[in-house]
Amino acid sequence: MISRRDFLQVSMDASALVGASGFGNWGRLAAQQSLTQDQLLEFDTYGNISLIHITDIHAQLKPIYFREPSVNLGVGGNKGHVPHITGADFRRAYGIADGSPSAYALTHDDFSSLAQGYGRVGGLDRVSTVLNAIRAARPDALLLDGGDTWHGSYTCHHTAGQDMVNVMNALKPDAMTFHWEFTLGSDRVNEIVEGLPFAALGQNIFDSEWDEPAELFKPYKFFDRGGAKVAVIGQAFPYMPIANPGWMFPEYSFGIRDEHMQDMVDEVRAAGADVVVLLSHNGFDVDKKMASVVTGIDVILSGHTHDALPEPVLVGKTHIIASGSNGKFVSRVDLDVRDGQMMGIRHKLIPIFADVIAPDPVITKDHRRAARALCGPAGRGDLPAGFAALSARQFQRHLG
Ligand SMILES: [Zn+2]
Repeated sequence: MISRRDFLQVSMDASALVGASGFGNWGRLAAQQSLTQDQLLEFDTYGNISLIHITDIHAQLKPIYFREPSVNLGVGGNKGHVPHITGADFRRAYGIADGSPSAYALTHDDFSSLAQGYGRVGGLDRVSTVLNAIRAARPDALLLDGGDTWHGSYTCHHTAGQDMVNVMNALKPDAMTFHWEFTLGSDRVNEIVEGLPFAALGQNIFDSEWDEPAELFKPYKFFDRGGAKVAVIGQAFPYMPIANPGWMFPEYSFGIRDEHMQDMVDEVRAAGADVVVLLSHNGFDVDKKMASVVTGIDVILSGHTHDALPEPVLVGKTHIIASGSNGKFVSRVDLDVRDGQMMGIRHKLIPIFADVIAPDPVITKDHRRAARALCGPAGRGDLPAGFAALSARQFQRHLG
């Protein structure tokens, strides 16, 4: 059985790992509480390992108004199942009260009126405050970035990803995987990845000429945490040349490569992994499928499809976590891992209410530094001709 401890917090014991369905009255507490930073951050630290998942930031440095979709099409067997339910159906499934903070964060109805009360969401300086709080409780928590990070804003475009690289590096992730990053072109991606102070992972990133794993991107990395060996395997977006122009990264090929994934899981298990985490940019339905055909993955941190789910979805023994997009949510996942087994999991999808969570001034300063670097001391810098009319002040407004 699943017990709900707090706002957005879900725990599950090992005895309940198989066959549990997650629906219940998750949102009721939220509706009854006024919103404070302490409540949003509240979490009873659990087990011996903490994972922090953020994904699909799409270069969104600052808080925004972000409405969840009113339609989420599911095909075939996925139709009508999470995450392919929206609005009132979604609220009913998770017991979320109309008009509550959770309704605002996770569903679309009454958006414009609720937005006046609840305000903007996201902002990487707010995300940093959440990371600091989690790290205060668990200093060695693993921060895992699911990709679509260095792409999607004006300043990211004109710095070829550098503004996001700087701010993300300041947040100190432990590993990352990729999708839209490759549209920077492989020369630029290689340049950034060579200098990254954390692991760039993708078991499905292959050298297209030799059809062998690409040297620059490792399939997995081990982390020693809480007396256990954690294996984090990366999975980049599989359909890269279909969704994005292949001429920008001709030396790489991708694909789902589920058999290679099984090999990697077996390899890390044989090397002593106590728990296997997949940092994925497959998209939710592909992750569900992967969990059903690959055995031995404990947790999939799912990205690409921007779904935000307040509870893990269980497929076999694999928990799939969906953490939204654009800096709107951070997932915290605490694990109890002993003797090569995951004994339990506690999860919280933390919504980043920008008016409730205080910005971390260190990161706000990084935003501003990025603006200055873009514009130069005279406020123009090396901007392309068409954009030279923008002032440093305007950039600062954009960046925070
Ligand atoms: Zn993507």
